[in-house]
Amino acid sequence: MIARVTLEIALRREFDYSIPQELAARIEVGSRVRVPFGPREILGVVTSLLEESSHTNLRPITAVIGRQSPVTPKVLALARWMAGYYCCPVEIALRAVLPEAVRREEEGWRERLHVRALPLSGPLPKLSKRQADIWNVMEEWRDLPLTELLRLTGTTAETVRRLEDKGLVSIAPQISERDPYAHEQILPTQPLVVNPEQSRALDAIVSRMNESAVGQKAILLHGVTGSGKTEIYLQAIAHALEMGKGAVVLVPEISLTPQTVERFKARFCAGAHKTLVAVLHSHLSAGERHDEWHKIRQGRARIVIGARSAIFAPVDPLGLIIVDEEHEHSYKQEESPRYHARDVAVVRGQMEGAVVVLGSATPSMESYYNAKRGKYTLLEMPSRVDDQKMPIVRVVDMRQESRKQKGLPIFSHQLKEAILQRLERREQVILFLNRRGWSSSLQCPKCGYVAQCPNCSVSLTYHRAANRLLCHICGHAAAAPKVCPESNCRNPAIRYAGLGTERVEDTLRKLFPHARVERMDSDTLKRKDDYRRILGDFRVGKIDLLVGTQMIAKGLHFPNVTLVGIVYADLSLHIPDFRSGERTFQLLTQVAGRAGRGDVEGEVFVQAFTPFHPAIQYARRHDFVGFYEQEIEFREQLKYPPIARIALLVLKGRNEEKVRLSAEHLRNEFDRLPARPPGTPAVVPGESRAQRNSDELPLLEVPSRKPRGKPEPAEAVGPEPAAVLIPDLIVAGPTPAPLARAETFYRYQIMLRTRQMTRLSQHLARLTASVELPDDVSLVVDIDPVDLA
Ligand SMILES: [Zn+2]
Ligand SMILES: [Zn+2]
Repeated sequence: MIARVTLEIALRREFDYSIPQELAARIEVGSRVRVPFGPREILGVVTSLLEESSHTNLRPITAVIGRQSPVTPKVLALARWMAGYYCCPVEIALRAVLPEAVRREEEGWRERLHVRALPLSGPLPKLSKRQADIWNVMEEWRDLPLTELLRLTGTTAETVRRLEDKGLVSIAPQISERDPYAHEQILPTQPLVVNPEQSRALDAIVSRMNESAVGQKAILLHGVTGSGKTEIYLQAIAHALEMGKGAVVLVPEISLTPQTVERFKARFCAGAHKTLVAVLHSHLSAGERHDEWHKIRQGRARIVIGARSAIFAPVDPLGLIIVDEEHEHSYKQEESPRYHARDVAVVRGQMEGAVVVLGSATPSMESYYNAKRGKYTLLEMPSRVDDQKMPIVRVVDMRQESRKQKGLPIFSHQLKEAILQRLERREQVILFLNRRGWSSSLQCPKCGYVAQCPNCSVSLTYHRAANRLLCHICGHAAAAPKVCPESNCRNPAIRYAGLGTERVEDTLRKLFPHARVERMDSDTLKRKDDYRRILGDFRVGKIDLLVGTQMIAKGLHFPNVTLVGIVYADLSLHIPDFRSGERTFQLLTQVAGRAGRGDVEGEVFVQAFTPFHPAIQYARRHDFVGFYEQEIEFREQLKYPPIARIALLVLKGRNEEKVRLSAEHLRNEFDRLPARPPGTPAVVPGESRAQRNSDELPLLEVPSRKPRGKPEPAEAVGPEPAAVLIPDLIVAGPTPAPLARAETFYRYQIMLRTRQMTRLSQHLARLTASVELPDDVSLVVDIDPVDLA
């Protein structure tokens, strides 16, 4: 037998190896293997098994890694799709589907000494007091890690050895699983009674699960903040378990709080089902991630909760995938493979016949567009559970406010009054501003000097606690000057312009000296537990006013919060990105949704300098559909997503002229390169005829399921440039990127827009393989980018 192997070094090629007799039983598709390559040995994954190879003198596989093949055939198929669509080598896609801790060659299990009680033969021998203490504990527990036994009894290992000598216990190394939640007290919960709206949504999901078919439509669950989406997720998961299937729940990293995890564990992890829920996210240690992953692979954990990469968890069979807060940009990976976990989820669901539920209070334009056009099924939950009202949102015109107050106003008169009222009533307040630091820039009013980052094309932010100027792109830090640094100016009245959370906090402390104020942003969260600690303090009422960035906008549920103040709502409108309106709408709606989750009705103050912007006005009225309808017109006119899809080519280098010339060269090559070389078949594996012939492809193109190896007839086509094969292609650029310089690298970009992304990706894969660029200029291909800056 022969194994075809993709190697870890990205070569965009696969290699054949012979399988030695002694390894034959352990090698299957998905096995990780060590193979000779030139003079060295490297790791790879077996992608197929063959009877024969066109090559002779195959070298044998050296070793198989691990006891079980880590990549299941289904996940392998997903990785192949990802490589094709996101225009990256299969090796890179394969690397993304396994956590680092699982990819390592060494055995990742932790062995610990375990003490086990042995069955008594005859009467209990005479024991000393301390030995008897140990024996009492062992009789009860039967099996304990040695360290745990010593902790419980306060004895030494020496004493335990005496018991071993007496034949009462055995001490032996044993695999010991690391459980990141071992010390949490989790009280089991029962399913809640759902209201009619929830019940309709749940029924629709459950009946779709019962039909479960390959290629079925995803479901978009549009429910306002507080409409009880999580309970629907929990009950749908319970149904998956009843069907003998598992579930994957994706949550944005930022909202993967202990509170979130607990809600799932509390429902499913009672008694003997302790391992049923596995958690995968970046705050776990490598060892914890290793153990959680293997729990899933061995089928002991059937429910996986995690951030982006949990979409690759080897749950099999998979019945349900939930993508909560599906509009979140953190689902997009910003390094190769640049996949979008929501879109990968939709494809995985279609491939494996699992039901995919995308949930959000503010769906992305993409998902809502797909729902409107019938590609997704739309389920709506327009009201909050328990008849809670949506908060009242008041927009404050800060232009008027700045005429009344001297200098830059931070709090309007109305907001100050409202905070005071809450303090008197002992209710809690959240204040939101999406910029950390003290000020946004340091300016000299006399000569116009602005402190700029030497590495990036952005101004530096002043952080008062650290008394430094910091770059939020590259982290560059500089001392804050006391006078204007321009040699012929030296103005001592240098000024901090703009505003960040640090200054909001400081102002609050001055305005309300008796209130307990805390700030939560990435500057205040230095240790792993800070996040948990601050939220815990807020929950139990040790904090009156909580200031924060978007970290506090997501999914938190605090019944005593009755007021939310959004300090500058229009900050995110000024980002040079066609999605800035959408982002602002989402952010305002999410933050506003934190108010009034208890018995008292919530109130939200939105302070803005552009109070009549549609994103602000529709958010004020809780009118998602209204926002969508005016926004989609704008997208339609400019052919931006979701009307078309974007591929962004970004060139980076330290020499600006070289980067610019390279970008122009790339554009020329793109126009010249035939969409396929003459004489090659027009059909690429994985692209079905139906897909090829429709100019309006399904949202995500799933490889066809027809058997391989039956080639479709080649069409006689000559070399055609991409524009002929992709008639709706729009090419813009090269132009300097909106963030023209970052971390000392100049950046130029070319933006491509089309509905036929699979075809464009194939063209781009050939382009990147053939184009020659200077060594110090790099090219990044980003399909469906979420960040255009
Ligand atoms: Zn100056
Ligand atoms: Zn910088």
